Amino acid sequence: MSTDILHFINGEETAGSGERRQDVYNPATGQVTGNLHLGGQDDLNAAVAAAKEAGEQWGDMSLAKRSAVLFSFRELVNAHADELAAIITSEHGKVLSDAKGEVKRGLEVVEFACGLFELLKGEYSDQVSTGIDVYSFRQPLGVVAGITPFNFPVMVPLWMSPVAIATGNAFILKPSERDPSASGLLAKLWKQAGLPDGVFNVLHGDKEMVDGLLEHPDVDGISFVGSTPIAKHIHETGTRNGKRVQALGGAKNHAVIMPDADMTMAAEHLNAAAFGSAGERCMAISVAVAVGDAADEIVSRVKDLAAGIKVTDGTDPDADMGPVITPAAKERIERIVGEAQHDGAAVVLDGRDLIVKDHEEGFFVGPTILDKVNQTMSAYEEEIFGPVLVVLRAESLEEAIEIINANPYGNGTAVFTSNGAVARTFQRKVQVGMIGINVPLPVPVAWHSFGGWKNSLFGDLHMYGPDGVRFYTRGKVITQRWPEPTHVSGASFAMPSSSDH
Ligand code: NAD
Repeated sequence: MSTDILHFINGEETAGSGERRQDVYNPATGQVTGNLHLGGQDDLNAAVAAAKEAGEQWGDMSLAKRSAVLFSFRELVNAHADELAAIITSEHGKVLSDAKGEVKRGLEVVEFACGLFELLKGEYSDQVSTGIDVYSFRQPLGVVAGITPFNFPVMVPLWMSPVAIATGNAFILKPSERDPSASGLLAKLWKQAGLPDGVFNVLHGDKEMVDGLLEHPDVDGISFVGSTPIAKHIHETGTRNGKRVQALGGAKNHAVIMPDADMTMAAEHLNAAAFGSAGERCMAISVAVAVGDAADEIVSRVKDLAAGIKVTDGTDPDADMGPVITPAAKERIERIVGEAQHDGAAVVLDGRDLIVKDHEEGFFVGPTILDKVNQTMSAYEEEIFGPVLVVLRAESLEEAIEIINANPYGNGTAVFTSNGAVARTFQRKVQVGMIGINVPLPVPVAWHSFGGWKNSLFGDLHMYGPDGVRFYTRGKVITQRWPEPTHVSGASFAMPSSSDH
């Protein structure tokens, strides 16, 4: 049975006026489960108009009232965490425990945004000149849009919307068309939390809708998370149209394993970071750079662990890993593994042609390890975004750092070592935004900000945390004087400075 998946505009679910539809699948069964309504220009105009009007009132509302909504939303997301996780698993395929973890990490950002009193506190300089004070504070941008990827259908919308809304903006979410249903529940929870209609909207669509948002004169800011070519397009088009844009792109995250690392810990973490969520995480470790003697041991240990991974429907309580998102993704991953094999890589573990019992139509690929890969192979050059770990071998820490810095992406990286000096050199020299020291998935907690370097982020500000607050607000600085009865004017045609008075 296939369910209609609708937009949420101005506080109401709506089928919209767009005529196009797209199938949504359960990737574990290969069955169509949803009929997604793709919006048209009228839906876009309706959502932006509702957001503009509601946003003006919301941005004027007291911080106390806004914070009450945020606290209430926090409780509701927490209460519906299992329901959200079940929706994620049914359309994305990741295992339920991982889907619950995704909701938790999103909830962290809601909790951060609950502190909006502190986050929006301005600055004050008393008596900068005689009788003159200067103070600054920040105001919302207005209408902001969030365009999100398939791999975190709850967490990434929650990286953006709580901070945008807490700071007084109206938000339009354009979720991935592959797993769009969770955004509908988020919209209902915002409404139930007391958020005025029109402040949070969901518009479904594809490139056509995204380009409409990028062109619309009443959209003031765009937050994007997705693949690098699209991130670049979003940043270029959005900024050309005068919007503030942050666009997070793809990744190829390297973990360096030094010979002095705790090998048991390194192997276990590498295994989980490479194959968790079938490798469909922007912070997944997809490349291991094994230094010197570490290579043979780490490859053999990860192979043993990965061979024991249970791949099946994510709703199975014993599942470690679910399917990949589409048949096209499966085909592409398997093609790249074949190319690496053809070019001389060693296929240490082969997850191609995996058939999962009772799920023969599902889009499954098993854990795959490619050893002795070099920097010219497509398995290294492309973001595979599947359960494939490629292993490069290096002679020294310096060579490992050179490999990382030559890569066009710079999202996350990690080093496994027991030597503090090695860790310190690594963190200072790698050109990457998020670094783990014996931590393979260094996704920052909500009160720090998330963002990569190079082709992993276009724009200046990272997402959520303090950068998120800066992104969704504009600064104002006031210089004030209240003349006293005895006041001497002191007006002058020369440029005034504080030392004049
Ligand atoms: P995607 O780029 O295909 O899609 C992301 C969004 O862009 C979707 O909402 C989609 O509808 C829209 N879109 C797709 N094609 C478009 C086009 N031609 N023009 C305008 N909009 C378009 O990404 P995806 O496959 O959904 O997600 C996986 C990618 O996201 C990976 O590259 C992954 O690394 C990246 N990602 C990055 C981060 C990060 O924080 N850097 C986090 C999560 C995912």
